[in-house]
Amino acid sequence: MYLENLRKVDPLVYRAVIKELSRQRENLELIASENFTSKAVLETQGSVLTNKYAEGYPSARWYGGCLYIDEVERLAIERAKKLFSAEHANVQAHSGTQANMAVYFCALNLKDKVLAMDLACGGHLTHGHPHNFSGMFYKIFTYGLDKKTEMLDYDNILYLAKKYKPKMILAGASAYPRIIDFKKFSEIAKKVGAFLFVDMAHIAGLVATGLHPSPVPYADFVSSTTHKTLRGPRGGFILCKKEYAKKIDSLIFPGTQGGPLMHVIAAKAVAFKEAQTKKFKDYQNQVVKNAKALAIFLEKKGFRIVSGGTDTHLILVDLTPKGITGNEASLILEKVGITVNKNLIPFDKNSPAVTSGIRLGTPAVTTRGMKESQMRLIADFIDRAIKFRNDPKKLDGIKEEVLDLTKKFPLYR
Ligand SMILES: *Cc1c(COP(=O)(O)O)cnc(C)c1O
Repeated sequence: MYLENLRKVDPLVYRAVIKELSRQRENLELIASENFTSKAVLETQGSVLTNKYAEGYPSARWYGGCLYIDEVERLAIERAKKLFSAEHANVQAHSGTQANMAVYFCALNLKDKVLAMDLACGGHLTHGHPHNFSGMFYKIFTYGLDKKTEMLDYDNILYLAKKYKPKMILAGASAYPRIIDFKKFSEIAKKVGAFLFVDMAHIAGLVATGLHPSPVPYADFVSSTTHKTLRGPRGGFILCKKEYAKKIDSLIFPGTQGGPLMHVIAAKAVAFKEAQTKKFKDYQNQVVKNAKALAIFLEKKGFRIVSGGTDTHLILVDLTPKGITGNEASLILEKVGITVNKNLIPFDKNSPAVTSGIRLGTPAVTTRGMKESQMRLIADFIDRAIKFRNDPKKLDGIKEEVLDLTKKFPLYR
């Protein structure tokens, strides 16, 4: 039976896990960075591989007994290289943040200059937040978005690159709904003699299936998570040119970690295999179709979609026309079983704790099998929940409708 041993040994943790499973089943998960792994990935991550120490790399370990561990890590490396047509892959990073740390350490010296996307325009914590290692150890300059189009302005990025002469330019974001032109970024980086580092954490699944142009031919370093659109276990990995392979590997181990999480690396190997299938490509296609549909349905209800739409798995919704903040909206939506996160919109007048927007993503609901017609329902739920936010009866009704919808798209059955 499911978690039978845990139930006997630790009822408190067991109960929390079971409740979390129900929460995942009964809510509409619209957090753009989340997804539901396959059962095969879950099984692998829960396997005996968690017991093994394997500091080092295949055939060069500091511990004995790594025969099968080596097999697994080699599979993960080869599959990652094949999936993204990369010269070298390191699959050991415990997280996206740690992958990024290894890249910074590889490319830069302390206090070196970096040009990265402004966090308020969609950049990630690791792209220069003052309380993150990136902001503490390096001199960060930022580029933003064009005020009118709310999209990247490559002429302006070139202007800033020439002005600040960074040693590294960082492309990639957590809340940017449009295609990023990595070729243009590489031209800019070449012009000023900077490294190009692309963080594709959010879009790795789209890149793996050709739905977003790949950064691999253009970037010196590419980092990613495995758990967002790529739908693998929680973790990170790095792709780079052969010439940096040794240095990147040594900056993951021993540079920034000890023993690798072999159960997670095995689950990454499984996810990379799944990502090579036609089924996965069809899935990513539907993710993008659903995001486009959700944007259109919300626009029809009077929401403003930042940049006018999306090319990817996520949309940024400006709530200003509805007279509600991102913080309030996310709390109301949670009441009806819809999970989202508040998010700054470009040039937001509100603080990061309040925000004028919410970020919505379709990877998780698409994994459950939802299509455009369900996006229409979801847009309607969101609209009514916000409209009737002071009417508890109406909110209860919407919650029932959300529950009915989720029951039709079972999870982990
Ligand atoms: C999610 C994300 C990360 C970090 O991933 P963690 O695994 O949470 O550390 C890094 N960069 C970008 C752009 C992300 O969206």
